[in-house]
Amino acid sequence: MHSFFYKVSSALARFMYGRNGTDQLNWAILVSYLVLWLLRVIMGALDIAIVALIIDVVMFLLAVVLLWRTFSRNLPKRRAENQKFVNWWWPIKNRLAAAKARRADKEHKYFTCKNCKTICRVPAGKGKIVITCPKCGHKIEGHS
Ligand SMILES: [Zn+2]
Repeated sequence: MHSFFYKVSSALARFMYGRNGTDQLNWAILVSYLVLWLLRVIMGALDIAIVALIIDVVMFLLAVVLLWRTFSRNLPKRRAENQKFVNWWWPIKNRLAAAKARRADKEHKYFTCKNCKTICRVPAGKGKIVITCPKCGHKIEGHS
């Protein structure tokens, strides 16, 4: 049994040699696919035929792109695509992570300067306060 798995995995490794395989973009496609699949289940239950059909088509296209990118031998092109995706996704991911950290922080309150969009942190529980933006000097009134 052990040698069977060894044979399969080495055959797979040989097959995948020189092919793109899994990268961040393919992971994102896979996650989108699964999210759509979940939506599709809900839509199926609600019997919204046209939306379900659109989701089916998008899921099919995602699956085609995923398989095609995974087995592609054009590595420079696939890496360039992946890099583009990572460059687009990283700032979004960082913003989401920062927002999550701010929500978890009960010791401070965060105010966004209306003038320059700088996020200003103040200790929580001070009551009504006026904050001067450290970047542009704009006054923010808030309740901490
Ligand atoms: Zn400001």
